[in-house]
Amino acid sequence: MTPEEFRDFGHAVVDWIADYRAGVEELPVRGPVRPGGLREQLPPRLPEEGESPESMLADLDRVIVPALTHWQHPSFFGYFPANASLASVLGDLLSSGLGVQGMSWTTSPAATELEQYLLDGLARELGLPAEFTFPGGGGGVIQDSASSAVLVALLTALHRGSAGAWRSSGLTGGEVVYGSAETHSSLAKAVRVAGLGHDGLRSVSVDPDTLAMRPAALAEAVAEDMAAGRRPVLVCATVGTTGTGAVDPLSEIAAICREHGIWLHVDAAWAGVAALCPELRAPFAGVAEADSFCTNAHKWLMTAFDCGLYWTRHPDVLVDALSILPEYLRDPAGVGGAVVDYRDWQIPLGRRFRALKLWAVLRWFGLRGLREHLRLHVALAEELAELVRGDERFALVTEPSFALVCLRARTGAGAAADDRRTERLLASINESGRAFLSHTAVAGRPVIRVAIGGVTTERGHVLALWRLLGEAFEAAAAG
Ligand code: PLP
Repeated sequence: MTPEEFRDFGHAVVDWIADYRAGVEELPVRGPVRPGGLREQLPPRLPEEGESPESMLADLDRVIVPALTHWQHPSFFGYFPANASLASVLGDLLSSGLGVQGMSWTTSPAATELEQYLLDGLARELGLPAEFTFPGGGGGVIQDSASSAVLVALLTALHRGSAGAWRSSGLTGGEVVYGSAETHSSLAKAVRVAGLGHDGLRSVSVDPDTLAMRPAALAEAVAEDMAAGRRPVLVCATVGTTGTGAVDPLSEIAAICREHGIWLHVDAAWAGVAALCPELRAPFAGVAEADSFCTNAHKWLMTAFDCGLYWTRHPDVLVDALSILPEYLRDPAGVGGAVVDYRDWQIPLGRRFRALKLWAVLRWFGLRGLREHLRLHVALAEELAELVRGDERFALVTEPSFALVCLRARTGAGAAADDRRTERLLASINESGRAFLSHTAVAGRPVIRVAIGGVTTERGHVLALWRLLGEAFEAAAAG
């Protein structure tokens, strides 16, 4: 494809995306799809000869779109949002267009330095300590995901906790990592990838009402492990758990970590960006004592996947843990230590110029626009929670957290009937295509999660969802 052909086809693709976004609200959030249905519509063999761009766009409409779950639909309330603003889409396009590979400073200085600039600036705006910034001796990096961030945190903690021996000798077998039953599964995966095995992860009990980690239980578990000769390495505390948005008490957890020299990683994958709004910062009290912090711009901060933001106050330990320098990567700038080589801050070697899409978001919306986006969704969650409180057919399972509301049906006929109704009405809403919700379980019982946060989600969409919940409740009673 020549640049001129790209210009022609590129216009058509941009038009296609604009039309898709303009019309996505008219589509079912998730259409009726059966497993294998898409593959049956594709030719059995890959194309031997190149085809026209138009034929690909036609297939996008014919084959792909009907089999999508439309995450950018304003009535998508499932999981956590993955809001991909069109500004970030353009930033992503620019990044692909430039096609640079930013594994080292020298392989594309702009990619590294823009990333450093953005991460420093965001640390300040999020109220993170100066020690997380480059001028303060720390630093931030864009990871592909919060899962990578926690793995990197764990590897750094293993390295620090072994006084450097982990890098050459590996694990000793007694290392222990702590989370709670509400901690995201990415911690368990990191533990497995790092080779700690099942015994290496302890699930600390949570407060039954708030579902937040109990510091006293953490202290007990740490003491027990140390008495048994095991070595506590890392605690993963969460601000905004995936299930219900629970907030682990960072200050108390940090005190335990400090006492025993344990790495404290704060996973705020979804909720962390809310700290851009000073009035939403209370749940982050204590973050200044963490060793690392992660939040995803690709969830609620308008930035297309993938853009996981990770900061640590110990980049020297991180680089020492992960750096491997074969001759073909050696260059004067890196060897002199005058620059940051981000390849040493992550698992893969290569890296995209992800900072561009984040920059595009910041320059399009400004911090003020981003704060308005966050505040709107927090206010809508509170409004929805108030509607739930006032309706005897529903109950809040936990208090709303940031922009997440967790609820269940209430039939008056006991817990088992409530659970059946909850499951039925969730299924019927998702089948309707008019909205999309996902679920969790609390104390073994099903819970409907309403995660508000789409790029174009407004009050009308939340009120429409509320009406739909009511209709589905009645229909499930009749059915
Ligand atoms: N941590 C929390 C609290 C999450 O909610 C999620 C995903 O929803 C993750 C980690 C994993 O995020 P990622 O998909 O970026 O790995």
